[in-house]
Amino acid sequence: MDTSRRQYAAIKVKHSQCSKLFGFCQYFNAYIWLDCVKIDIMKSNYTRKNIIALPNPRLRQRSAKIREITDETLQLIDDMLAATIDWENSRPHEVAVALAAVQIDRLERVVIVREDFEDKENKRFIVLINPEIVKKEGEIITDHEGCLSVKNIYGQVPRHSKVRVRGLDITGHEVRLKSPNPFIARILQHEIDHCNGICFVDHIADQKDAFFILTESGELEPYPYEKVVESGILPDEE
Ligand SMILES: [Zn+2]
Repeated sequence: MDTSRRQYAAIKVKHSQCSKLFGFCQYFNAYIWLDCVKIDIMKSNYTRKNIIALPNPRLRQRSAKIREITDETLQLIDDMLAATIDWENSRPHEVAVALAAVQIDRLERVVIVREDFEDKENKRFIVLINPEIVKKEGEIITDHEGCLSVKNIYGQVPRHSKVRVRGLDITGHEVRLKSPNPFIARILQHEIDHCNGICFVDHIADQKDAFFILTESGELEPYPYEKVVESGILPDEE
């Protein structure tokens, strides 16, 4: 176990082909044309304080489909971005790679994913509205996963290494994409899970040695299962 993963996300993404997302998207290595959302985050007064965390039960509710993309939808995206960036600014060892609307307590199927994980200065995100997984494929890979709604606790989560996803961009056009690498496949599965009321810990709730804690110095250390249980983040047993 490598516990020296500072800036977890940034280190995980070594794939330097991850170029910027303008027009046709090389980064997703796919036939998509996601509009990079042009957002003035000054229009939102959301901060990291708007991000809800487990054990808040809202995180286990299903989000509703967006029927029409309105100014409110764009404002929601604005608010998600502002909260995400503010969260990142408060976290020296982590990069905010993605967020789902439920995480700011809005039960709507919207996710944002960082355009370029390697460049913390790049605050651009792509937006997927009503995203759904069309197909999961490839091998199952178990790797570290964290969440803005699960403070400091990471888990080793098994995920498919490839997914195909479809959704809408902010103009309402359908986009279809396939993940270019297992890390992005992981992010997409994690965020689409959020839309369905599933948190990453739910996949490993009974796995006693799957949890890790982020220390103040930015290391991941094994976290005793009793403490995970005590923290209240695991789903209630039926
Ligand atoms: Zn999450």
